[in-house]
Amino acid sequence: MPSPIPLPKAIIFDLGKVLLDFDYGIAARTLAPRTRIGETAIRGLLDQSPLLHEFESGKISAAELYTIFVKESGFTGSLADFRAAFGDIFTEIPSMIAMHAELRAAGLPTHILSNTNDIAVEHIQQRFPFFAGFTSYIFSHEVGAMKPKVPIYEALERSAGFAGTDLLYIDDRAENIDAAIARNWQCILHHDPAATVAEVWRRLGR
Ligand SMILES: [Mg+2]
Repeated sequence: MPSPIPLPKAIIFDLGKVLLDFDYGIAARTLAPRTRIGETAIRGLLDQSPLLHEFESGKISAAELYTIFVKESGFTGSLADFRAAFGDIFTEIPSMIAMHAELRAAGLPTHILSNTNDIAVEHIQQRFPFFAGFTSYIFSHEVGAMKPKVPIYEALERSAGFAGTDLLYIDDRAENIDAAIARNWQCILHHDPAATVAEVWRRLGR
């Protein structure tokens, strides 16, 4: 008989599309009037693009991203204007944030494991109080590697002090989940908040 799956000792959250929804279309609409290109072209530059990948891998800074964006788009705003528009793309997913609060109240460690960048993190820290409540934060731009690359998962294990089935991980992208399954983490491929909330409490035996 297979041994039962142990109760997880820490819960790992992806950020985008799990705790916060995001839409680069909002940034494109804000930036477009001060460029010589349209919203679609701006999204091509910034939304899930090679340039965003370099930024979220920590290969270029926000100032370097801004300089490249100005060159490509003719943007006439300042770096501060760019940061404000680029960061302001998030909205809360209330039921997931409420579950996180309940997990913390129940005494469970929780961690963020996110492909992100310093503009987004600064904006989220200023705008969303729930974000202060995690045990630790592993960000791709600080690690220098994005999910699904191995080093960012290793960084999370070191920070959490747990590995394998002691970790329960929630992410909306299958390739990120596959990399965690390869490390024997317990995983939930997130589609819908109600289903994920029910599954987390089931895995915790409650
Ligand atoms: Mg995500």
